Amino acid sequence: MRESQRKKLIMAGLGKAQKRSNRRKYKCIHPNCKLDSIKSHSQQKKGQLSSIAEDSSVYAMRKNMYQMFNAGMNDLLSKQTIGEASRYKGYCNAHDTSIFSPIENGNLDIDNPEHNFLLLLRAVSYEYASKRDMYDRQKDILSQVEHLFSYEGRKNYEASGYGIKVFLEKDAPYYLSLLFDIYESKNWSKIQYNSFEIEKNIGVSSTTCFSPLREDHPSWMAENFEKPQPFISFSVVPDESKTIVAFVWFAEFADLCGEYSRIDINQEDISNVINTYIFCESEDVCVRPSLWEKIPIPDKNMIYRHMGESDSVSSANKVPLVLDW
Ligand SMILES: [Zn+2]
Repeated sequence: MRESQRKKLIMAGLGKAQKRSNRRKYKCIHPNCKLDSIKSHSQQKKGQLSSIAEDSSVYAMRKNMYQMFNAGMNDLLSKQTIGEASRYKGYCNAHDTSIFSPIENGNLDIDNPEHNFLLLLRAVSYEYASKRDMYDRQKDILSQVEHLFSYEGRKNYEASGYGIKVFLEKDAPYYLSLLFDIYESKNWSKIQYNSFEIEKNIGVSSTTCFSPLREDHPSWMAENFEKPQPFISFSVVPDESKTIVAFVWFAEFADLCGEYSRIDINQEDISNVINTYIFCESEDVCVRPSLWEKIPIPDKNMIYRHMGESDSVSSANKVPLVLDW
């Protein structure tokens, strides 16, 4: 088969799989809720995203496989309306509103333990919902274009699907039940956090979870394979005049999270440190268009490399500074 013919067939298959994925319905994440989830935002559109938007748009991670393949996988961030960016199918309309209203519309208070808990719950919910969506989409894609993959390509693709399956079947149910126990009991001592406020809008917004072990994660997991994977949530919430940065983790991971409890708003390299976490660890970053467009192309490519390699070691000053800080 000619390469151009093969690409055409792959594009058609990806287009079909993407359409199916857009139509797919999921149940609300709240335990015992039987309603379908709506498309909600892990980063609130009004307030958080609109505070960094220009012409109602931001740069955000591409989620659409069809567009990604067409763009040659080079640009991981693309200009999107704030209606599209950071969307996930997580909760029904009632739960999405009732659970997260305390931290929306400018009410987020970094000293309030319940608010920090809600940032953790939202980050885990986003991670879970995007992974279940991704897992089903990968199966669709495989069924459409399997015969066009090389043996190696197929093996790599299936291996990434296996990691997601383990997360969905083992890690996520464990964490979500722990989270809803805390939500019901209001026992905030089961979480810990380090949250602070920056006195300006830094032009970037993000909600994500990552391993506190970073590059040491695989070797830790090899020795602790029966345990759920440790993680920490990281939220960057800008508004007109300030930005809230919150690291939140389960108290049971305290031993692994020392590095994050020591981050201090007054340390000299703080803007580089936060910039590094945002661009190396976040899978859901949104950036103000004028801020992203002025970054030189070699710097953008370097940032994309860091985004792509989840276990790359990156010292804070090696990632080009994007934040308006
Ligand atoms: Zn619900």
